[in-house]
Amino acid sequence: MKKQLGIVGMGVMGRSLARNWAKSGHSLSLYNRRVSGSEEGVAQALTQQFVELRQAAAYEELSDFVASLEQPRKIVLMVTAGPAVDELIAELRPLLQSGDLIIDAGNAHYLDTERRMSMLNTHEVNMLGLGVSGGEQGALEGASLMAGGTPSAYALAEPFLSGIAAKTPAGRLALKHIGPGGSGHFVKMVHNAIEYAEMQAIAEAFEFMHSLMGLDYQTIAEVFEAWNDSSQQSYLLEISSRILRTKDDQGYVIERIADRAAYNQTGAATLVEGALKGEPLSMVASALFARFISNKKAQRQELAVYAEPTSAIVSISVDELKQAYAFTRIINHYQHFEMIASFSERLGWKVNLSDLCSVWSSGCIIRSTLLQQLMPKVDGQLSALFDKATREELFAQKPSVKKVVSAAIQSDVPLSTMQTALNYYQQITQEQSSAALVQAQRDYFGAHGVYFKQSAETLTFYPWPK
Ligand code: NAP
Repeated sequence: MKKQLGIVGMGVMGRSLARNWAKSGHSLSLYNRRVSGSEEGVAQALTQQFVELRQAAAYEELSDFVASLEQPRKIVLMVTAGPAVDELIAELRPLLQSGDLIIDAGNAHYLDTERRMSMLNTHEVNMLGLGVSGGEQGALEGASLMAGGTPSAYALAEPFLSGIAAKTPAGRLALKHIGPGGSGHFVKMVHNAIEYAEMQAIAEAFEFMHSLMGLDYQTIAEVFEAWNDSSQQSYLLEISSRILRTKDDQGYVIERIADRAAYNQTGAATLVEGALKGEPLSMVASALFARFISNKKAQRQELAVYAEPTSAIVSISVDELKQAYAFTRIINHYQHFEMIASFSERLGWKVNLSDLCSVWSSGCIIRSTLLQQLMPKVDGQLSALFDKATREELFAQKPSVKKVVSAAIQSDVPLSTMQTALNYYQQITQEQSSAALVQAQRDYFGAHGVYFKQSAETLTFYPWPK
């Protein structure tokens, strides 16, 4: 009997998705490459290790794997993003037939997805670029799924995807056909950028409470827990509280973890894509750069000798810090929703931001009450985060942000995202900026022309004195 769905790549995510699909009643063929001496019988071993995979067929030969699938074939790739996807598609393509479907569920760059789609299209093979969020647990128990591709490709995949999607608090599936082409992978990329700044903002709140308010790990965990019981509820806050509480026979685990944060390509890719189109994604930049600098440990140790020691305890309340944290999160979401809205409009994707909030409100790493609150506000095609209520909220939070950021500056504690959020807010709400001088400088040295206030559409090349 032929199997309904094939999965390629039995790493952390592939095996978890396979278990989830098997539990939702789908018959599966599993494939993992064979690398003599290191990767042998990987898929086979999983069918023995997990009871739900007992009925799955395991392969190390792609041709046997493909032949085991019912037609049109549906094959999920869950492998390391990049050349591995191209290599696998090149191997699979001659084995496939018109109407078959490849679903790339890894974190591919959306432009790579579009390139692969158009290549496969010439062979009448369908492709879907699927953004999957939720990590190992989400893959296993219900993930947030963002699909990009043609409606017919999505229709082939939908019965399978709905089996592994998380349920939103409103009882919907955390699954959406985002739009055509690479739109699914694009929004997953931006999701990860939001995640970078969300994580960094929590780390800064932790650092502030620990270094400048003198709170111990247990107390900070309790503060995060209290915030998590409020409108600031989020999965990341919840796990941060749990992490800070975690103790073993050597004490608090967090104390023994090196202060160097790793990263993958998605945060940087969002920043680069945004920058090339004039999107001011300062939040992901600040979070990303904080990670980059964290990895310059030797340099930090050397230069720390010359730095002023941080001053003593500051008089900031936990509530003021919470306001700064809430403010930072709104700016973070705002910047990235703007980015999605602008790309969607330019590329004709018609991404519905409200649907996106729904897909992100369960299963994924950035799920939070804030996303549920934003859902009605971003209804339609354009970001409307600066609605009246949000404007008033930001305005009310601003004094606390200034207080927190000023105290941190005075005490040499860098608050990358909080300071950046304040800076962005100050810039985006400033009617008159300093850009006139920059315009004039460009015209002076490069004859780029300037726009005068009275004739905003006419480029004038001013005869500057040399
Ligand atoms: P992983 O545990 O490192 O597994 C990678 C898989 O890719 C392994 O099965 C590996 O096979 C296979 N592979 C690598 N190069 C290959 C090649 N040239 N040919 C054939 N197979 C190859 O990674 P993962 O965490 O499952 O992530 C898989 C994808 O999901 C990535 O794109 C990742 O960015 C994305 N993703 C991950 C998460 C997460 O939380 N981990 C969440 C969402 C999305 P071998 O075992 O033989 O090396």
